[in-house]
Amino acid sequence: MNVLATPQSTSSAPKPAEHFDILIVGAGISGIGSAYHLTQQLPDKSFVILESQESFGGTWLTHRYPGIRSDSDLHTFGYRFKPWVGPPIATSEEIKSYMGEVIADNDLGKHIRYKHRIERASWSSATNLWTIEAVRTDSGEPMSFTANFLWMCQGYYRHSRGYTPQWPGMDKFKGRVVHPQSWPEDIELGDKKVVVIGSGATAATLIPAIAGKCAHVTMLQRSPTYFRVGRNAIELAETLRQLQVKEEWIHEIVRRKILFEQDAFTRRCLAEPEQVKEELISQITAVLGPDYDVEKHFTPKYRPWRQRIAFVPDADLFLGIKSGKASVVTDEIDRFTEKGILLKSGQELEADIVVTATGFDLCVLGDIAFSIDGKPLNFGDTVTYRGMMFTGVPNMVWVFGYFRASWTLRTDLVADFVCRLLGHMKAKGAKKVVTALRAEDHNMPLLSWIDPENFNPGYMMRNMNLLPKRGDKPEWQHSQDYWAEKDEIPGIDLDDAAFVYD
Ligand SMILES: Cc1cc2nc3c(=O)[nH]c(=O)nc-3n(C[C@H](O)[C@H](O)[C@H](O)COP(=O)(O)OP(=O)(O)OC[C@H]3O[C@@H](n4cnc5c(N)ncnc54)[C@H](O)[C@@H]3O)c2cc1C
Repeated sequence: MNVLATPQSTSSAPKPAEHFDILIVGAGISGIGSAYHLTQQLPDKSFVILESQESFGGTWLTHRYPGIRSDSDLHTFGYRFKPWVGPPIATSEEIKSYMGEVIADNDLGKHIRYKHRIERASWSSATNLWTIEAVRTDSGEPMSFTANFLWMCQGYYRHSRGYTPQWPGMDKFKGRVVHPQSWPEDIELGDKKVVVIGSGATAATLIPAIAGKCAHVTMLQRSPTYFRVGRNAIELAETLRQLQVKEEWIHEIVRRKILFEQDAFTRRCLAEPEQVKEELISQITAVLGPDYDVEKHFTPKYRPWRQRIAFVPDADLFLGIKSGKASVVTDEIDRFTEKGILLKSGQELEADIVVTATGFDLCVLGDIAFSIDGKPLNFGDTVTYRGMMFTGVPNMVWVFGYFRASWTLRTDLVADFVCRLLGHMKAKGAKKVVTALRAEDHNMPLLSWIDPENFNPGYMMRNMNLLPKRGDKPEWQHSQDYWAEKDEIPGIDLDDAAFVYD
């Protein structure tokens, strides 16, 4: 099945293109999971995974700052097919080692080409093929591939750099400014005063990891964030292990328990936000004590779940604050000074190192220049089919996971869908599938990818115009609702008029 085909564009690709039935973009948790499902469900298909980095892991390879860990439990962030046997919150090393086992156990390594950055993807209706032009990041050599189907597992943010807002005076600051996404190996924390700008999951992970290793660390936030506090352990898993229940069963039972509880929690956030808010905040007061100003530093203005809620295992962030090794300042930055940061309140925070835990740069489909029959493709002009396919874009699926549940739950669901779709195409003798609005959809309002009333993290809000549009019917949106989609996605009628085959 792995044959050589003539490339459509030869300008920068002197070698003949290599052909695969399916080309998977990215060797992160989505790409590796998708490859696994493909080998299990459609073992006759040829495929390749192209990955620009030097190894697998994606997010868990890119982020190397101290303390880097998941904020989801690994029973649900892990794949449904491979039991997670460690504590629920895992380090990036543990996640990479889990993924490494999936690759080794299923002989996936032979399908992965590292150091291949994809730059262009062009669809030809004449051949019903994608031509993918990549560059070897080590030698600069152009590489060309053709594929019948593109499986986009490139994530949602730019791996090469994080998002750092520009503040006045940054050029005058005598210390060092570091983004957690490009954590320098040579950084000495020793006797340094560190200010971390931001209060999301990254700040919550980094601060306890460096508190005690530097002179002092301050979390500087414009406004408070919600956190959940709990033990980094699942009692039920421990009990089942004591009873020598098989790990496969424990994985499944604990997944069901966690998903059941998350579903109930999400519903409560919508039905009784004030009560949930109080519960979350009281967990923090319990650690910091009644004299700490929890109202000012840990009481958000928005309702719970509008942004991801970071889990703080064993209350480590709050214990760091209680010990005095870390502190929190809630204020706005006026400007950087030579010595640190001047706040709008007039206070100056002295710093030797400023860490900008200010988030990601959203990146739609891996910064790849897409075209269809020679015409550049702007994803902002398309409408999404359930956050997986895009109107007018043939033979392509994007794995965009969940924010309120573990991302990987959707990787497994989308993989089943892709394999079913490819099987259906084979049965029909179709070479091409594209989604299109049906007659009844033509007057449908077209809205932004995510409803900002529902979920509104900064990296999404900054770049919403780059993302495909959403309609007001379940078929034409990414609902972010695992509990509905776990039944809806397997039930999709592939002969619905939204799918056009050729
Ligand atoms: C610090 C951090 C912690 C997180 N913690 C959680 C968590 O606990 N739970 C959760 O559900 N989610 C979490 N997330 C979200 C997380 O990104 C996803 O859960 C998940 O890891 C995404 O996996 P992915 O494989 O889809 O994408 P990524 O991990 O982003 O991997 C994509 C891969 O594609 C490659 N790639 C991209 N473009 C190209 C190209 N043009 N050519 C070749 N290769 C390309 C990249 O190099 C990368 O290796 C976290 C995110 C961050 C940044």
